[in-house]
Amino acid sequence: MDASDILALCKRRGFIWPAFEIYGGVAGMYDYGPLGIAMKNNIIDIWRKAYTLGEGFIEIDGPTIGPEIVFKASGHVDAFSDSIVSCTKCKESFRADHLAKGLHSNPDSLSNEELSKLLRENGVRCPECGGDLTDVEDFNLMFKTTIGPGAGRVGYLRPETAQGIFVDYLHLYRFVREKLPFGVIQIGRGYRNEISPRQGIIRLREFNMMEAELFVDPENKSWPRFDKIKNEKMKLVPNNGDEIEITVGEAVERRMIGNATLAYFMYFTQEFLKTVGIDPNRLRFRQHLQTEMAHYASDCWDAEVLLSYGWTEVVGIADRGCWDLSRHIEYSNADLTAFKKYEEPVEIEREVIKPKYELLGPKFKGKSAKIGKALEEIDPSKIKNGNITIDVDGEKITVGSEFFEIVRIKEKVTGRKIVPHVIEPSHGLDRIFYACLEHAYTQKSDGYVVLRLKPAVAPIKVGVFPLMVKDGLDVRAAEIDERIRMSGIASYYDDSGSIGRRYARMDEIGTPWCITVDYETLKDGTVTIRDRDTTRQVRIHQERIIPTINSLLCGTPFSALEQ
Ligand code: AMP
Repeated sequence: MDASDILALCKRRGFIWPAFEIYGGVAGMYDYGPLGIAMKNNIIDIWRKAYTLGEGFIEIDGPTIGPEIVFKASGHVDAFSDSIVSCTKCKESFRADHLAKGLHSNPDSLSNEELSKLLRENGVRCPECGGDLTDVEDFNLMFKTTIGPGAGRVGYLRPETAQGIFVDYLHLYRFVREKLPFGVIQIGRGYRNEISPRQGIIRLREFNMMEAELFVDPENKSWPRFDKIKNEKMKLVPNNGDEIEITVGEAVERRMIGNATLAYFMYFTQEFLKTVGIDPNRLRFRQHLQTEMAHYASDCWDAEVLLSYGWTEVVGIADRGCWDLSRHIEYSNADLTAFKKYEEPVEIEREVIKPKYELLGPKFKGKSAKIGKALEEIDPSKIKNGNITIDVDGEKITVGSEFFEIVRIKEKVTGRKIVPHVIEPSHGLDRIFYACLEHAYTQKSDGYVVLRLKPAVAPIKVGVFPLMVKDGLDVRAAEIDERIRMSGIASYYDDSGSIGRRYARMDEIGTPWCITVDYETLKDGTVTIRDRDTTRQVRIHQERIIPTINSLLCGTPFSALEQ
């Protein structure tokens, strides 16, 4: 099996297919078809519930286009780029680090100069036409646009959903009643103008992200439930050593993973990936090299899954430190801090401005009270050249140093402002979706395909068939199908071809159970229910179908029905 088998099945059966196909398609753009959408929504549902119901995260949904200042502040305008080379003959462009694969253990970590040298020294030429390649340059991956008519305002399609959460920090901090730690999720599209996307839906130009941002106290990066999972194991590939299986607690104690929250959410990610059907034997966490890390990250681990494409990043889990909030504070002047209470109030000494009202009055007359008040609120460290310029009712007024003095006062304070740090698990939904398909794909020697999707992820849970399309069997089967659908379970009625062909069609799209209505149903009301993975069948009464399916969906093994 390779990726082309999966992609062919996906197209034939309506999971995904290349977008704009009648016009030749566009690289890096795919459509989700009817089964793909259902399966994608199931994955989203599991993820959303794990974070919101399981861990108490809150969710937002913001615009996918943002003004330039947001991405200036986030660093994406200046630093979100890949290394590009072009062919001087056919003009095709390529990712330089991809052309350097096999020539270096980690081409991602090289500078443009180093990459140019490596490609030159190894005689790498254009893979399309054999032409000479240009030097390696940076290529910014963001799609630029204008917001509004005419020249408008420069905007960008978001390259990640995360910035939408950071710019909403004030609302979110207030919503959680001003307590750290707290977590926020956002699910939606991200856009990256990838240089030469291939590999199906692994590298898209418009893709689906599920991101969680956790705001934590920088001096105490713990997570309340860490102790519950600290003895569980994960497979790690640290950036200074070989693969190791280790408990979460030990990985933190030995400082392999920077802090407990990062470790907790790596484990959480592992469990989520297992729940949706990723084979744990083909899953590991690889730590980024310092030189490979995104501009915002201080520690980063990729959840990697082994696919026919090789080890592939499906989730990036990064400690973004105070990068994002500090930058947005700098660019917006908004107070994106948290208030950290001291255990006991402490007395501090600080400098304040004391206006000389007796001099302000004669000079500034009616405005003197407002000027004095404005002076009192200014931080003395911000004074330049002895004078202060203040804004009073829209008027800029410069006040000379003779009108105030700087004095030291003592006061009791209950805490101080801190800029929270952010830990981010960022999930590539399309990659997870694809990995679920690949890990579920099985083919027998005669070519018979069974997609062993987890029932919770499968787009259709039950196939419903009449044995024959006569004698009222079809009417009864259609009634049963409708009842199942009306109860909220996705079922599919099929009466065409032999029963064997109908089972095969359901097995190929991963439907876990099939129900057949036969002549016994008309006599005693029982139907057969067949299990996809064992092909075993049992008879149950038709009134028991919905509770039975619900119980199987909750994890009851099929064998329990046989007792
Ligand atoms: P990053 O912010 O680069 O760590 O990306 C977060 C996640 O998004 C990655 O772990 C990938 O699973 C996914 N991802 C990144 N770029 C793409 C892309 N071009 N197409 C599809 N998924 C992507």
